[in-house]
Amino acid sequence: MKFETRAIHDGQPTDPATGAVTTPVYQTSTYEQDAIGKPRGYEYSRTGNPTRAALEQALASLESGRHGLAFASGVAATTAVLNLLGPGDHVLAGSDLYGGTYRLLEKVFRRWGVDTTYEDTGDVARFAGAVRENTKLIWIETPTNPLLHVADIRAVAEAVRGRGIRLVVDNTFASPALQRPLELGADIVVHSTTKYIGGHSDLIGGAVVTSDDEAFSAIKMYQNAAGAVPGPWDCWLALRGLKTLAIRMERHSRNAEDLALFLQKHPSVERVYYPGLPEHPGHDIARRQMSGFGGMISAELKGGYEAVQAAVGKLKVFVLAESLGGVESLVCYPPKMTHASFSSDERAKRGIKDNLLRLSVGIEHVDDLKADIQAALGER
Ligand SMILES: *Cc1c(COP(=O)(O)O)cnc(C)c1O
Repeated sequence: MKFETRAIHDGQPTDPATGAVTTPVYQTSTYEQDAIGKPRGYEYSRTGNPTRAALEQALASLESGRHGLAFASGVAATTAVLNLLGPGDHVLAGSDLYGGTYRLLEKVFRRWGVDTTYEDTGDVARFAGAVRENTKLIWIETPTNPLLHVADIRAVAEAVRGRGIRLVVDNTFASPALQRPLELGADIVVHSTTKYIGGHSDLIGGAVVTSDDEAFSAIKMYQNAAGAVPGPWDCWLALRGLKTLAIRMERHSRNAEDLALFLQKHPSVERVYYPGLPEHPGHDIARRQMSGFGGMISAELKGGYEAVQAAVGKLKVFVLAESLGGVESLVCYPPKMTHASFSSDERAKRGIKDNLLRLSVGIEHVDDLKADIQAALGER
């Protein structure tokens, strides 16, 4: 069946006990066993919960993977994957990375002897050249946060095939509705379901999907052992979000394409980063590996930080907030918000300038979004 149908039905049959059409919220910590050593499938909700299982199955299906695992947050999912590693292992990561992933690699995993180096993914041969003898994991995002660089997933997978290295793609910015890394050769997909999958800015969650049985067993063991699992309500909200993911992503993408063109022509805007723009360096790759260009835009404003502050102060529809991927449009200033965990040197090295704004374009009417931006950038 097609994506849109699977999003609504996979992992979510009508409830066997009552016929309820919607997967119930199984708000229970434990389960009756028929006899000692004879549970009916569930024993304890850290280990497994039917609402969570529905979400895990649905996510696996949508990412074209065999196994899905849900976590209490995106960084909990990231932590679970990084726990495949041990002291002495090396991670090769893309240089334009979610700030929290960078913090985890540098502030937590480095202390346990996991070394990470960062390379631009734009030139795949050069990126793959940074693989070391002890490299066990490659971690990339595409499109990236906040500069929306595009990495060629298939090319990276092919460049490192057969070397015992797992390729992980953080697919949060695209969502499985627009891009499915496992189909392109990645081994593991990670999500912050907080973003597009939840889609309504009302939950924190994460997920891992893989068809690698060995990685799945290890991550599942870790999920139960470390215990960063989502509660049934959050799983239910994520499932509810999933059902409309495809149509939301269509509208997010359409609105963002329209706004990117509008911003590009605006005299107060210095530069626009959006993979849907033909002059974006990753445009052709994005066209090939994504079915839409997504709802995220970054832009540099003329006039530096003062101009950014003034514009943000005037926006009325775009809400100043961290996060992304909800139905409502948000604006964020990466240097002081999402990317504050990078030093200013690190930011400069990565090309994150002081006049950068990031927009999460919602599904409001695009005319209202344009009018809001026009009013904010207008009189200067
Ligand atoms: C938000 C985000 C995360 C972390 O997810 P949380 O749910 O906030 O823990 C990881 N990667 C990307 C790309 C994100 O945007």
